[in-house]
Order: sequence, then C-alpha cells, then structure tokens
Amino acid sequence: SIPLGFFGGIGGASKRGILVKGSNYLEALNDVEAVVFDKTGTLTKGVFKVTSLNVQSGFTEKELIKYAAYAESYSSHPITLSILSAYDGDIDKNSMEEYEEIAGQGIKVRVEGMEILVGNARLMGSANVHYDDVETFGTVVYVAVNKKYAGSIIISDEVKEDSAKAIRELKSLGVKKTVMLTGDRKAAGEKVGKQLGLDEVYAELLPADKVEKIEAMESRKSRNGKIAFVGDGINDAPVLARADIGIAMGGLGSDAAIEAADVVIMTDEPSKISSALKIAKRTRDIVF
Ligand code: ADP
Ligand code: MG
Repeated sequence: SIPLGFFGGIGGASKRGILVKGSNYLEALNDVEAVVFDKTGTLTKGVFKVTSLNVQSGFTEKELIKYAAYAESYSSHPITLSILSAYDGDIDKNSMEEYEEIAGQGIKVRVEGMEILVGNARLMGSANVHYDDVETFGTVVYVAVNKKYAGSIIISDEVKEDSAKAIRELKSLGVKKTVMLTGDRKAAGEKVGKQLGLDEVYAELLPADKVEKIEAMESRKSRNGKIAFVGDGINDAPVLARADIGIAMGGLGSDAAIEAADVVIMTDEPSKISSALKIAKRTRDIVF
C-alpha cells in the first residue's frame, strides 16, 4: 500500500502547479543526480525575433522572408512565429504542392514549382546546398530555392528570467550535474550554457541524439541515482519517456510532451523543478 504521506506530497505539489503522476516519481525525485534540460522553450522563452537578414545576390529580402513564411505556414515550432510576423504579405496555401517538416532540421515545401528549403545547416548540408557560415550567437534559418542558397535569417531568443534561479537552486539541493541538450547551433547553445552556469552543453543534436545522450548518462549514473529530463516540445516526447524522470513544462508544452512525462510543471518556470525536489524531500522525511 502507498503511505498516506505521499498523498499529502502529491497534493501539496499540485497546489504549486506541479503535477506528479505517481508516488514512485515523487520518491524518485529525491535521488536526482543530474537534471538535463532542453533549450528552446524550456530554459529560453521560445519567443524568437528576427534580428537580421543576409540576402544572396539574385534574391531580395522580401523574397527571402516570403519563402521562409511559406515554409513555416504549417509549422508550430517556436521559430515559426518570428518568421511569420516578419512577413507582411499573404500566403496562398493553394500554391503549395508538397509540405514536409523534418524534425530538428526545418521544412521542405514546393511552391509555384519551386522547391524551398528552410532550416539549419544540417538541412542545407544534406541537400548539398552551398551556404555561408554566419557568425552569430543567434539561431540561423537558412533559405534555399531549387537547391540554390538564397540567404539566411538570424533570429534570437532570450533566456527566461527564472532559469538562472532554477539552476542555482538545483545545485544547492545537491544535484551534481546540470546539462542542456539542443538541436540549435553550438554558438547559440554555449551562450545560454555560460549565461546560466550549466555544467555541460550538447548542441546540434537530432531528436534521436537526445535520446542517446540520456541513455549514455543513465548507463554511467550511480547505483540509485536518477536522471531527470525537462522539455516542452513535440520532439522531446521520446526523451521524456526514456529518462528516469521526464518533466514536461506545461506552460508552452505540447500535448505529446505532457502525455509522455512523469511530472508536469503547469507554468513555464524551470524553478518549479527545485520546488518539486523540496516537496519530495519533505514527503520522504514524513513517510520514512
Ligand atoms: P531545440 O533542441 O532547441 O528544442 P529543435 O530540435 O526543435 O530545437 O530544432 C533544432 C534546430 O532545427 C533549430 O534550432 C532550427 O535550426 C532547426 N529547425 C527546427 N524546426 C524548424 C522550423 N520549423 N523552421 C526552421 N528551422 C527549424
Ligand atoms: Mg525543443
């Protein structure tokens, strides 16, 4: 039977906007030795803004934004809104013949007989598009038309005000390692890592690489230690399911992420994770 104290703990957590899907997870939170975070939407706001455009000759800024907006028109990635709000024309969805979103890379769409690719360096590389490396700490969205590089759109996101506090508190509660996994560029990932004082940052990962990283960490952890993963996006569901404790940020989180998680934070505050750890400790002290 489940000791009564656990119900108090789970109830107390839910009053603070932390949904724990079982007493075993509340107990397991006491043994977390590493907290692994997704970047976009988890530690950062997930609200991008266009900061600059680099257009290749033969293309105009207007075209660059238009092609990108067409490609983003069916996406719900955090990047999407920034591109759509930079475009002030109409989108004729009837002119789109093919549409494919490639998780962790971008989008391929066929419009008015042209093949448009919009996404990161990996997407360009796999289509053999010769793109320029752009020096920035932002996120780079490359655009190619019929495999010809048309230019890049630099967008940037901000770290959540609550994230630094979250990392500090986890450390003070005895969590040995804080890690960030991201599909974004190395420079963009490392900037956030430095800003927040994270122990490790792994960038340019595909969704499957994130699962592998978690598996590698779990194979190296101490005997009773637990690895928690915190994420918000659709792409994060496999990682949330694989981690000892999957924590979904419910503020902006997708249904798939909430479904796959063991703990759901109802707000977008990462510091709720340290609150959850404190509640877990109090509950253990009462129950045992
Ligand atoms: P994160 O790990 O930061 O949550 P994702 O795995 O969702 O990021 O995406 C990784 C990278 O793939 C993004 O930084 C971006 O470069 C590219 N990408 C993914 N989806 C899109 C999209 N809809 N439009 C443009 N680029 C995208
Ligand atoms: Mg994500």
